[in-house]
Amino acid sequence: MTEGLVLDDLLIAHAAGKLEEPVALLVATHLALNRTSRRLYEQYEAVAGMLLEGLEPCEMDPSALAATLARVERGSAMTGATGRTAGPAPRLPGRRWPAPLCHYVPDDLDELRWHGFGGAAEAEVLPEHGGYRARLIRVRAGRAVPAHTHEGDELTLVLEGSFRDASGHYRRGDIEIADDSVDHQPVADPGQDCICLAVTNAPLRLTGPIGRLLNPFVRI
Ligand code: ZN
Repeated sequence: MTEGLVLDDLLIAHAAGKLEEPVALLVATHLALNRTSRRLYEQYEAVAGMLLEGLEPCEMDPSALAATLARVERGSAMTGATGRTAGPAPRLPGRRWPAPLCHYVPDDLDELRWHGFGGAAEAEVLPEHGGYRARLIRVRAGRAVPAHTHEGDELTLVLEGSFRDASGHYRRGDIEIADDSVDHQPVADPGQDCICLAVTNAPLRLTGPIGRLLNPFVRI
């Protein structure tokens, strides 16, 4: 995405409908969990609406209407990806996930195909789309993700539990934004497994003494 990406950039891009589906899914889920961001997002969305109203009309491609309707349909399934629907998550009976994620992740995590790495495991949620892909990361309580850096951007949203690394402490609803300047080893807090939604646009690179040797064999 951009150098020095911050949460505001994501909210503004989301309000403008500019995010690829995996990133939009992460931001919509964050908005369902975080009231402060929701208020900010509503302001950005209002500004985006005003800018839209001020644009000069232009001739549309004949396929534009069908493409837009298809996008609206996909967006409403995500609850918040494209419209003003990122409010408090309406939880369906028995559902454990915030509303935007319900359409992508089964209630029972064992239905996903998990691949272990160190004290953690990952399962695909969305295959690559626009260069980005989304995965669930599950870190056992008190365990660490192998030390790594990134060849691109990594957005990590905490869904359950919490973790910490050198940059801070992240709880349910928080997003950590990392890029190729960050070398870190997230550690789940004791007492509860930490489950995160992670979106990346490039592979991770292990950096620990053993991790370096394993790089040719990992697919995270
Ligand atoms: Zn990372």
